[in-house]
Amino acid sequence: MALLPHSRNLLSSIITSANRMIGMRTLMSKQLVYNEFGDPLNVVKFRECSVPPLGSQEVLVRMLAAPVNPADINTIQGKYPVKVNLPSIPGNEGVGIVEDIGKEVKGVCPGNKVIVTKSVQGTWRNIAVFKKEVLRVVPDELGVVEAATLTVNPCTAYRMLTDFMPVRDGLVVIQNGANGACGQNVIQICKAWGIKNINIVRNRPDISELKKYLECLGATYVLTEEELRTTNIFKEKKIAKPSLALNCVGGKNALEVMRHLQHSGKMVTYGGMSREPVTIPTSSFIFKNLSFHGFWMTAWHEKANQTEKDKMINDVVQLMCENKLKGPVHKMVKFDNYEEALGNALSSKGFTGKGVTLPCLPAVPGDEGVGEIVEIGSLVCTVEPGERVVLSSRLLGTWRYYGVYHERDVHIVSPNLPLPEAAMLSIAPCTAYRMIKDFLQVKPGETIIQNAANSPCGQCVIQLCKAWGINTVNIVANHCGYETVRNCLLDLGATAVYTLEEAEELAVFDTSLTRPVLALNCLGGRYEDVMLKLLERDGVIVYYGCAFAMPLVKQFLRCDATFCRFHLSDWDAQASCVEKDIMLNDIVQLMVLGKVKAPVYEAVELKNYTQAFRNTVHCEAFSNVNYVFDFTLP
Ligand code: NDP
Repeated sequence: MALLPHSRNLLSSIITSANRMIGMRTLMSKQLVYNEFGDPLNVVKFRECSVPPLGSQEVLVRMLAAPVNPADINTIQGKYPVKVNLPSIPGNEGVGIVEDIGKEVKGVCPGNKVIVTKSVQGTWRNIAVFKKEVLRVVPDELGVVEAATLTVNPCTAYRMLTDFMPVRDGLVVIQNGANGACGQNVIQICKAWGIKNINIVRNRPDISELKKYLECLGATYVLTEEELRTTNIFKEKKIAKPSLALNCVGGKNALEVMRHLQHSGKMVTYGGMSREPVTIPTSSFIFKNLSFHGFWMTAWHEKANQTEKDKMINDVVQLMCENKLKGPVHKMVKFDNYEEALGNALSSKGFTGKGVTLPCLPAVPGDEGVGEIVEIGSLVCTVEPGERVVLSSRLLGTWRYYGVYHERDVHIVSPNLPLPEAAMLSIAPCTAYRMIKDFLQVKPGETIIQNAANSPCGQCVIQLCKAWGINTVNIVANHCGYETVRNCLLDLGATAVYTLEEAEELAVFDTSLTRPVLALNCLGGRYEDVMLKLLERDGVIVYYGCAFAMPLVKQFLRCDATFCRFHLSDWDAQASCVEKDIMLNDIVQLMVLGKVKAPVYEAVELKNYTQAFRNTVHCEAFSNVNYVFDFTLP
């Protein structure tokens, strides 16, 4: 395994030198920009422009994700105290993959995953040139969301728990806005460092759900603003009075929080969400000797030396890699849909949007396919005319007779690979492969449970598991064609097939199988509940497809289980060429041996595309027909 990064870098550098030799290639960057301060929904525009040549100390980065933070919105509104020269590209933090480096750049290589560590560098673009000094290499295994959101909130939480009071020595911390992105980082870092913490949130109809969620993250106590006023946790000595208060709300809320501080305690204000000033009673200064401070991450960065910055980032990355610090609850938004993310951040519900970089319209549809190389450019060195290839990258448009693709986006497949398998290789089989491999080391003899087992992905899960000696329990809807489906799945290698109702009856997992250690959920609702009921203690449930939202309440009910999401395009965006090659070769080998078959399909001529749409749109849970455009049809 240690070979992977090295080989990938080698491959990347071959491609990079080829690109340099081409020289005249014009690389285009899709980006957001604003020319005046104002309402983000009015002033932020989308543009596409060519990427300038790389300076000797510069790095070309393909961005993977960049969040929308309150500070980004305030900066665009012209209300944030940082100097911005217009026109400006918004976005203060983000993660990407290095594509190319300037002649004098050291310590960063093509293929490295990097984060932007300095504010106002403009991360809301898909391709960017940054000065080397504003980037920092992070481990490949660091999650995209964690990496993209690392420098603002986790670092703010880290600093506030480090710089003001020796809270790690058994002192208690209290904070308001505890449900915010920064607040959730405070809770998790407190848990990791063994600090008792009291968390104040606004009351809401689902308050018990929110309390359980924050407790799962590591909150010692979660109180509403009203409960804080009357609480007797201090009187009854359930917990000592806090020595450090973190305030991002202000107004009455901050006043109530400071009332509970220990003598000589400190309040650190880092935000003002209520827009009300912090009012301090005179007695707090005189009789309680409280002190009041402000914290601003940007100012800290200006003063801190490199050693302090390195230690902080290393510590935060380590906590994230150890899964002790998770990325915020978020919604990935296509870059094209940036207005949704901005609107979300401006709404009263607060921000949940993160931008990701995906291509813009107009686009040729079609996400996977197989073809034969007709012609290659003069510097192409990895494929030859006549070779059969599948597309190994996404969203490149396959619904066309001829397409021009970069050599790194195609993968040579054996001529012995049947065409239907090749045409449907890069989504369902790859999704199944990754979900079985990436979340848990499922051993032969162990069991995986899945719903929508008759889908192309479900069928691939069954076949891959059979090939690897893993049992599968498969849940499908009850339907008039159920018996046929059941037999078909058993033929593919399913260990057990149940209807939803049958599975719900399994009060105890009463088969000869072991309880499933991994659940693959693409449906949600009752289909998800039944899998959670049957899942082994400390098991893992992966959400993919339609079931991308992970309901908080279910996470509390099964707080032993790990809840994960999978999206193939997220994996694709970060995977190295070598990782993709290994996966595709593994799957192709199984397909050539007949161990993984393509789902049943019907060939359609491209010009009859509406037929495929009509049928696919109306496809029922039991439709076992997938449509494939067959370009060889007359
Ligand atoms: P989020 O939007 O994720 O969270 C905001 C939190 O504030 C939520 O918990 C929300 O509660 C709460 N809140 C909002 N309005 C009120 C109100 N009127 N009364 C009580 N609670 C309220 O933001 P972040 O965590 O990312 O940031 C919080 C603040 O900290 C922002 O002002 C941000 O600019 C600032 N910040 C400052 C930094 C610095 O360096 N100084 C660094 C990072 C952030 P609810 O869930 O009920 O909506």
